Order: sequence, then structure tokens, then C-alpha cells
Amino acid sequence: LGVVATTLETTPETTPEAELEGVVRTLGRVLQDTAPGEVSGDRARSLVSLLGEIERASSSGIALLSPRVIETGSYAKEGYASAPDWLGAVSGSSAGAARARLAAAERAAGSPELAEAHDGQLSAAQLKIVAGAGALDPTAPGALLSLIEGGASHQELCASAARKCAAARSKETERARRARVHAQRHFCSHQDERGGIRGEFLCDEVAWATVAPLIEAKAKERWKRAGAAAGESLEAHRVDAFLELLGGAGATGSPRAGAPRAIVLIDAQALRRGTAHGDELCEIEGVGPVSVDAARELIGAGGLHYVIKDGLDITTVTGSTRAIAQRIEVALLARDRTCVVPGCGKRLGLERDHYTIDYTDEGPTELANLARLCAPHHDMKTNGGWRLTGGPGHWSWVAPRRPPGAGAIARARRVAAAKARSRRDKPRRN
Ligand SMILES: [Zn+2]
Repeated sequence: LGVVATTLETTPETTPEAELEGVVRTLGRVLQDTAPGEVSGDRARSLVSLLGEIERASSSGIALLSPRVIETGSYAKEGYASAPDWLGAVSGSSAGAARARLAAAERAAGSPELAEAHDGQLSAAQLKIVAGAGALDPTAPGALLSLIEGGASHQELCASAARKCAAARSKETERARRARVHAQRHFCSHQDERGGIRGEFLCDEVAWATVAPLIEAKAKERWKRAGAAAGESLEAHRVDAFLELLGGAGATGSPRAGAPRAIVLIDAQALRRGTAHGDELCEIEGVGPVSVDAARELIGAGGLHYVIKDGLDITTVTGSTRAIAQRIEVALLARDRTCVVPGCGKRLGLERDHYTIDYTDEGPTELANLARLCAPHHDMKTNGGWRLTGGPGHWSWVAPRRPPGAGAIARARRVAAAKARSRRDKPRRN
């Protein structure tokens, strides 16, 4: 066996890729040849246990190598807008799940104990817990790893990590704690898969204290008015109070002049029928698809609305008047519901791009010359040499001859920004 191993190591084509490709092929063959109905329970159990080992080994490998992909910005070479987008596509998960996984991998790379534990013993979930605790308490990974080695259950691991985090937090100085919260502050919302908008935020206690009493007072007032004892919970009224204070649903008086209004895009057929069928459009821009009834309600409340006739067949309009510009804008919103780069699918914060002739080269503002891109893809096109070709329904995202990494794209962006600044600041000659 020793002889065979030596021969394998010296064969020139034995790259890590070739070896792993062999493993993938073997795995595929074994699974194809195994009919679940013909396998005994005991054999199935031992196969699952081996597959679990493979799963852990491969997540360890992903955690070991992905920080290197981020560090070198290599993901951009395949046309991905960000590292989470890349890992999400590679591992078949959402970009959100991939982001958490990358964060754990990056933390693990900074911890000596965890860097040594990449021999296939940690699952992605375990790594996330251990690395997360390690970020607060550098001694936590050692203790948690020995718990795992000792065969602790997932629940035991979570409980121990939570205790360590709580202890570390109580030792953290107040200043460090606030700085950490400030760095991690965020506000995000998305359409829940079962309907409704779900949100999450993290902010500084002092900042929150300036608005929390307002929300609480308004919520209690609404709660009492509605009949506190019998009616809905205070939590329910708190959401209403929050929206009311922002000038949204339930607010008295007309919307503030000049305040941005929600845009509803609705197919003429769907509006007439009262329900949307198939691919018919009934959507709130930046929020997501809604029922025709919900769209009508928003339109009644003063939302801007656009009825789209005959599917997406809004033909090219050229000209310079405000009305025409608005028609083009709406036609573009209706046509490009998401970033047009195939496989991207982002729908928030999209930017307009003049894709055939760049705006600086006097590109005409007409529908055929416009496309919507997410900010990172727009950046890759402007500063990374990527091109958008095809057209509505058959877009393709074309790599430059030598695709740059994320670092090179960021440098190009900085150079372009500096050039634009110097053009702007150049003293005028009178
Ligand atoms: Zn995109």
C-alpha cells in the first residue's frame, strides 16, 4: 500500500482538484447503485453515518478555503457580484446563509485552535457556533472543541457556547460593547414566504431610547382605545404605532408633500379580473408581489400606480419631455423586475444602466438602451470590464478576456472616482 501511495503522489496529474473529482465520481456511482428499498436498515444506517462524515469534511474544507477566495477577490472572476452570492451558488443555499457561513469561516481563520480543527470534524453549524463564541472569548473554541470531541450533542454545545458568550459580554467594556453594536447595526426587511413583510434590526440603546417611548405610548393608546382586555395584543398595536409614527398606514392627514410614494405595477388583465394569473404582474416595486386587492388598497391610499397593457409590450419611446421620461422609467420597471444578470435575481436597490452605449458617450435614454442592474453588478460592468449583451428575455453576462478579481475592480472604481473629482474641482478659466 505504501508503494501505491508513493506512486500516486508522484504522478503529475494528481492535483487536489483531480483527487476530489475522483471522490465526487465515486460518491455519485455509489449512490446511483444503491436502491433504498433493497438496503437493510443497518446498512442504510452505516451509510448515512459515513455520508455525515463526508458532509462534515466537506464543510470543513469550505471553511478552510473560502476565506482565501474572499481575500483574493477571485469570486468576481466568475461574474459573481459578491462572495456570499458566489458561495450561495456553489453550495445551493441563499446568499444570506452563505454570508453567515463565510463570517464563521473568516472568524475561524483567525483562531489558532479552529485553524487546526479543519480535519473534517466540524459541521458548518458547529463551526458557526464555535467561531461565534471565539469572537467574544478567545478561550472558548478550545473548550467547545473538546466538548465536540467528547461527543456532546448539538444542544449541549449551544448551551455551553451561550454561557461563554454571556460571561464574555459581562466582561466586555461598555465602550467596546457599544462600538461592536455600532459596527453591526442594520435594518433589513423582506417579504415572508407565507406573506407579509418581516423585518429585523439592531441599533444602539441610546439611539433607540430616543424613539422607543414614542412608539410605546402610541401603542398603549391604540391598545386601550381598541379595548385592551378583549382585543389584540400590545405587540400587534406596537407595529401599528410604529407605522403610524413613520407616516404610514393609520397616520392621520394626507401624506407629506414630496414624500416618496409606493409604485404599484399591475397588469391590465389582472386589474380587470381582480386576480393575477400566471406571469401577470401585480407587484409593489421594491416590496414584492401582492394580491390585486392589496394593490387596489394601496392605489386608493395614494400610491402611484401604473397599469401595464398586454404583458410587457411597452415599446420604445424616445424624447425628452418629463412625461415621456416617466413612461420609459415605468416601462423599464415593468420589464426588468430583477437585476437582469442571469442567475442574480436581486430586486432591491436596482440601478439603471445604459447598456449598449454608455451615458457618457451620449447614449440615448430609450427603453432599448436601458437595463436594470443591482449595484454590485453595475459596478462590475462599469469598473470590471463585464458586458451585458442579448436583450430582454435573453440577457447574457459576458466576461472580459481576463476577468479581474474584486480587488482590481475596487481599485478601478477608486481611480474613476478620483478622476471624476479632479474634473469637478478643476478651476474654471474666465
Ligand atoms: Zn445583480
